[in-house]
Amino acid sequence: MSENIATVAYLGAAILFIMSLGGLSNPETSRRGNFYGMVGMTIAVLATVFGPRVDLVIGLPWIIGALAVGAAVGLYAARKVQMTQMPELVALMHSLVGLAACFVGFASYVDTSVIYTGAEKTIHEIEIYIGILIGAVTFSGSVIAFGKLSGKIGGKPTLLPGRHWLNLLALLIVIWFGGQFVAASDTSAGMVPLAIMTAIALLFGIHMVMAIGGADMPVVVSMLNSYSGWAAAATGFMLSNDLLIVTGALVGSSGAILSYIMCRAMNRNFISVIAGGFGTGGGAAPAAAGDQPAGEVIAVSATETAEMLRSAKSVVIIPGYGMAVAQAQHTVYEITKLLREKGVNVRFAIHPVAGRMPGHMNVLLAEAKVPYDIVLEMDEINDDFPDTDVSIVIGANDIVNPAAEDDPTSPIAGMPVLQVWKSKTSIVMKRSMASGYAGVDNPLFFKENNRMLFGDAKKMLDEVFVALKG
Ligand code: NDP
Repeated sequence: MSENIATVAYLGAAILFIMSLGGLSNPETSRRGNFYGMVGMTIAVLATVFGPRVDLVIGLPWIIGALAVGAAVGLYAARKVQMTQMPELVALMHSLVGLAACFVGFASYVDTSVIYTGAEKTIHEIEIYIGILIGAVTFSGSVIAFGKLSGKIGGKPTLLPGRHWLNLLALLIVIWFGGQFVAASDTSAGMVPLAIMTAIALLFGIHMVMAIGGADMPVVVSMLNSYSGWAAAATGFMLSNDLLIVTGALVGSSGAILSYIMCRAMNRNFISVIAGGFGTGGGAAPAAAGDQPAGEVIAVSATETAEMLRSAKSVVIIPGYGMAVAQAQHTVYEITKLLREKGVNVRFAIHPVAGRMPGHMNVLLAEAKVPYDIVLEMDEINDDFPDTDVSIVIGANDIVNPAAEDDPTSPIAGMPVLQVWKSKTSIVMKRSMASGYAGVDNPLFFKENNRMLFGDAKKMLDEVFVALKG
């Protein structure tokens, strides 16, 4: 394939990626968006493999081998991974982008097939240095995020003494070694500062994500998404591959916008979240035993729940991570359909950080074919709770915790929550009195107008459905 055809193919792929992002911004067009993305990626891979920079005689067996291994791992993961494990899988994928940027960086530094001189050499080395820096932070940070999301590492922030000074020191050392790297006379002299910087960047990534508390993880997930994009863009610069630069910039900037949206939704300051320990440090002592929410909880049965739903005029359903675990979305839809047929006004309230990844609940509800027009964002529905007869919370906890509004010492203080306690009756479906991802007790369970329906969400909703039909 000639250089010109490859350039045109790259341009086509870049346009398809932009159209894909546009499509993904709305549930109704998201399938089309995915399709554009798949076509764009196929064109990009073909144009790269058959492009002018690959010697097919030497390269093809390697490329086919790599494609076969990658496709096998991808297929295995896609079949094996449960929907609830998707956030961990995404974190793992981000780590691979970071690792790839590091490998490409080291490879292009020792590559002798292209000789750079003068200013070009300096620019190329700066690209390598920054590319490996971003790649290493993305890699180690994403591995820790994977551990935290999968529960292999505890959600509590690990805060080293003087951590801000440590970060500043790391930055200064990295800048100093950057100077040494660019000034190095040959590759072996440059390898030492490059390796030291990589080690520091890896430690920084670990330190940064370890310092982040459970409730702030959504911001970190979207931020690492953004970093993986910048790592890909850096790889594009190192390889002089325009498509990789454009694609990386698209992922990097959309991840940055998502981080901003997440911060705004959680009423968090981006810098404070990234600096770590937000809401846990300073004077905020953990609540003493006497301050824990206490009182009586009123448990109800599935039949009683069905009765309350049947006599309600307006119902709001609040799905959370537990609905994803129980895979209860299809039964939720069956119940919704039944209640709507009986003339009940049923709507869904979606908190921006419900579940374990941005848009988690929207994906599940779309999969169950819940109509989009009754699925509302937090800002659209929060004022309607006082006029709601029954709010039913399905496997959610942190996103309906009134402590976020009432308790300034809470780790989730200031985070906007769905005010279900303002409805006439709220029903919380979960298996026990255990806390949610942020590890915070929930005073909602003890409110006078709250009822608890204990059990697995799918099993209990099946019972509610049978009782409603009867
Ligand atoms: P939570 O983690 O706060 O609560 C989920 C609740 O579901 C648990 O208390 C659990 O209680 C219950 N549950 C679990 N399994 C089942 C089951 N099979 N049947 C019934 N109930 C079940 O989830 P929320 O959605 O309310 O909040 C999301 C949290 O995750 C927030 O803290 C957010 O910051 C964090 N987060 C969000 C990310 C995102 O991008 N959306 C990313 C990373 C973190 P029990 O064990 O008693 O059943």
